[in-house]
Amino acid sequence: AFNFSAGPATLPQAVLEQAQAEMLDWHGVGASIVELSHRGPEFMQVAAEAEADLRTLMSIPDDYAVLFLQGGATMQQALLALNFAEPGQAADYVVTGHWGKTALKQVNHYVQAHVAASGEAGGFRDIPPRADWTLTPGAAYVHVTANETIHGVEFRELPDVGDVPLFADFSSSIVSEPLDVSRFGVIYAGAQKNLGPVGVSVVIVRRDLLERAGQPRADILDYRSHVKGESMLNTPPTWNWYLAGLVFKWMLAEGGVEEFAARNARKSALLYRTIDGSDGFYRNEVAPAVRSRMNVPFFLRDEALDKPFLAEAKDAGLISLKGHRALGGMRASIYNAMPEAGVEALAAFMRDFQQRHG
Ligand code: PLP
Repeated sequence: AFNFSAGPATLPQAVLEQAQAEMLDWHGVGASIVELSHRGPEFMQVAAEAEADLRTLMSIPDDYAVLFLQGGATMQQALLALNFAEPGQAADYVVTGHWGKTALKQVNHYVQAHVAASGEAGGFRDIPPRADWTLTPGAAYVHVTANETIHGVEFRELPDVGDVPLFADFSSSIVSEPLDVSRFGVIYAGAQKNLGPVGVSVVIVRRDLLERAGQPRADILDYRSHVKGESMLNTPPTWNWYLAGLVFKWMLAEGGVEEFAARNARKSALLYRTIDGSDGFYRNEVAPAVRSRMNVPFFLRDEALDKPFLAEAKDAGLISLKGHRALGGMRASIYNAMPEAGVEALAAFMRDFQQRHG
């Protein structure tokens, strides 16, 4: 089946096959990689290669540290304030959907969280223009959500926030296109969309920010300690790290982020064309300039057709299309690992369903 789940999401077939082939005996060692010590030479090699490959994929400059951590993206949202803001210091949040709100919620105990701009009044169907943002002088950082997984809203241009470090949640769009990492103070992402299975998060931190005092915190909540400990302060999620490493190698072999950017542009354009060309049978409500290339929420004009749509899609091998409960309707998540054939099959199914039910 083609799996349009928003996350955990589909993984590249080639990666699953490779993991299956070496699951019982990793490279002739006589044990699975997930049975070996994280400090042994085998896993240390896997870990080092994963970091090196991600650095190559994303052209990460040397003055950025790369961490592979537990706790999901939500944990990183809390750690941003603990590590990079003084107690009670201001931090600016640009809220463009559900996940921006979540990020804000994590830090209320630690900082003066300030909503610099919000798309909520408009139902998160657009991104407030930069000219309308009210940034706080002396803020520790500005936080944005690069791609809103539920609302299907994506920054297509990076905002200029001056000298204040820009922190960005890239959970649902990391490695989907080339990115100028040097524009950011911190980039973070849960793995379960574009990087691998849920259980590991990638955090990319500009090293000079690690000199900030931040707030009283335990070692395990301290990015500095994680950098020093090479993401092995405690037992890391080796299985997830290993699989993410396979995903990076697969992406490099396929042509890197430039290639995926081209595929993602074609896939999302086809889907939006199908929706917009349906005479209102389907609709996407997001302003065209900020429509997500990764998550395409859409609604059927006649809600009574939602159930038959999902049932018939499933029969056609197109699964996990039900929209998030906050929005209803449908959502097609089309991350890097979704083949173009999957989106072509979905578009053909949508046209056919409209013909039969329209
Ligand atoms: N941020 C975004 C953009 C997401 O899509 C998600 C989860 O889907 C999260 C944060 C939360 O991630 P996690 O469940 O890894 O904490």
